[in-house]
Amino acid sequence: MKPIKWGSSFSFVASVLARDVHGRCQGAEVITRDIAIVGGGATGTYAAINLKDQGKSIVVIEKHGALGGHASTYHDPATGTPINYGVQLYYDDQIGRSFFALLNITVSRGTFPDSKTPLYIDFTDGSPVLNYSIPPPGEDYFQALHKYPYLENGLELPDPVPEELLLTWAEYLEQFNLTDEAIATYSRPAVSGDITKILALYVFNNLNTVMLEEELEGKIIVNSNSDLAEPYSKALAELGSDVLLNSVVTGGQRGSKPTDGVRLCVSTPRGNKRVIAKQLVFSAPPVLENLKPFGLDERETNIISQFEGGCYYTGVVTNLGLPTNYSYVNRGQQTESHIASVPGVVMFNPTKVEGTYYYWYTSLSDLTKNQVETDTRDTLKRLQKTVTGADVNAEPIFMAFKSHTPLHPTASADAIRKGIYRDVYSLQGYRNTWYTGSLLVTGSSQLWNITSQLLPRIIAALER
Ligand SMILES: Cc1cc2nc3c(=O)[nH]c(=O)nc-3n(C[C@H](O)[C@H](O)[C@H](O)COP(=O)(O)OP(=O)(O)OC[C@H]3O[C@@H](n4cnc5c(N)ncnc54)[C@H](O)[C@@H]3O)c2cc1C
Repeated sequence: MKPIKWGSSFSFVASVLARDVHGRCQGAEVITRDIAIVGGGATGTYAAINLKDQGKSIVVIEKHGALGGHASTYHDPATGTPINYGVQLYYDDQIGRSFFALLNITVSRGTFPDSKTPLYIDFTDGSPVLNYSIPPPGEDYFQALHKYPYLENGLELPDPVPEELLLTWAEYLEQFNLTDEAIATYSRPAVSGDITKILALYVFNNLNTVMLEEELEGKIIVNSNSDLAEPYSKALAELGSDVLLNSVVTGGQRGSKPTDGVRLCVSTPRGNKRVIAKQLVFSAPPVLENLKPFGLDERETNIISQFEGGCYYTGVVTNLGLPTNYSYVNRGQQTESHIASVPGVVMFNPTKVEGTYYYWYTSLSDLTKNQVETDTRDTLKRLQKTVTGADVNAEPIFMAFKSHTPLHPTASADAIRKGIYRDVYSLQGYRNTWYTGSLLVTGSSQLWNITSQLLPRIIAALER
C-alpha cells in the first residue's frame, strides 16, 4: 500500500496518534472507501444513502446497535405494534419525501400524533396544576421568530449577533413582554435542561416555522406501518456490510491536503478495522469526547471544546397504575410560568397499546438508565397516590430505554458573541472533515436539507 503523505501542519500529537492508529490496528482488515461517515443517525444515514446512490463508496461507523439515532421504536411483543418513543413525526417536504422514496417507503399525509387529554401535574409532589392549559404559540411568538429568519435553517448568524438573542429565554420574554404561554409551549422538539436558562437564539432555532407548521397545520408525513425507525432499518438493509454497528473510532489521522485523506482505527465487535477514506463526514454530536480520537489540532480543539450537549432520555413503561385515558404532563405548581422542575420526567404519553406509555426525561447532568428509571418509578408512585386517590401500588414495568445524551450541542453567549458559529462553518472541509447534524438545527428534515447541500461539496473534494 502506498504510504499517505501528510501536510506540513501535521503536528506532534498527530504523529503520536498515527503510531497509535498503526499500533492498535496493526494487521487489521483494511476497509478503503471514498467517504467514512461517523454516526448513523438522521444525517449520517441520509448522507450514506445519498452518496451511495450517487456512486460513491462509503462506510458508516455507528456506536450503537442500530441506525437511526433519536428515532427509536419499541415493538410490543404481544401485538407487534410499533411504539415510537423518540422521533414522533417527519415534516412533509420534498427532501423527506425523496429520502423515503430512495428507501422504497410509501408515505402519506399524516396528523400530529394524538396524545389523550393532558393532566397537568407537578411531578415533584403529584399535585394537579389547576385551571391551566397550554394554548398554541401566540401571534407575539411568530412576530418575534420572523425577526430572525437566519435562525430557521441553521446558525449562519449576522455579525454582530443581536444581543437580545443572547439573553436567556426567561430574560427575553420579560424584555419583549411575550406571553407566558409562549414559554410554556416550548417542550417540543425535545428540549433538555432548564428552559428558562436556554438562550433565546436556541429557542427560535428549535421552535421554528417547520416545527410550528407540523404542529399547527399538520404538515406531516407518515409511513404506512407507523414505525418511524423504518427508514433506518431499511437503510441498514440497503447499506449492508457498509455499516459497522457497535463500533467506535479509537484513533485517527487526517491530513491537511485533500490528497492526504483520512485513516481511522475502528473498534468493532469483530475486532479492529483500519478505515482508509478520502473524506470524513462527522455526523455524531460534535463534542470533545466524541472527537478526541480523531487527532484534533489546536484550531479544532478550540472550537469543539466550546460545545456541550444536553441530557435527555426516553423510554417505554407499562403498568403505570394510572387511568389510561390521559397523558400526564409535568408542570411546576409554584414555578414561573409553571415550568417543570429539572431533573424529572417531562411527560408520559399513551401509545396505541392500551396501558403502555412512552416517557421523556431531562436532567442537568448525565444519568444512568438505572437512575432515570428509579426516578421515573418514584414519580409514578407519587402520581398513583394523587391521581387515583386510592391505594393502587402498581409496580411500573420498564420495557425500553434510550439515552439521547449529548443532545443538540450548544455554546455559551460569550462564545456566540465571539463568533463560534462562524468558526464552525469555517471548519467545513478542513482536514478532509465535514460536519453535519444537530449542531445547527434540530428537526430531521431541516438537517437532511443541510446535509443535502453539503454533499456536492464533499463529492467535489473527492475529485481534488
Ligand atoms: C426525543 C426526541 C424526539 C425527537 N422528535 C423529533 C421529531 O418528531 N421529528 C423530527 O424531525 N426530529 C425530532 N427530533 C430531533 C431529531 O431526531 C434529531 O435532531 C436528529 O435525529 C439529529 O440527527 P443527527 O444525525 O444530528 O443526530 P442523531 O440522529 O442523534 O445521530 C447521531 C448518531 O451518532 C451516533 N454516535 C454518537 N456518538 C458516536 C461516536 N462516538 N461514534 C460513532 N457514532 C456515534 C449515535 O448513536 C447516533 O446514531 C427528536 C429528538 C429527540 C431527542
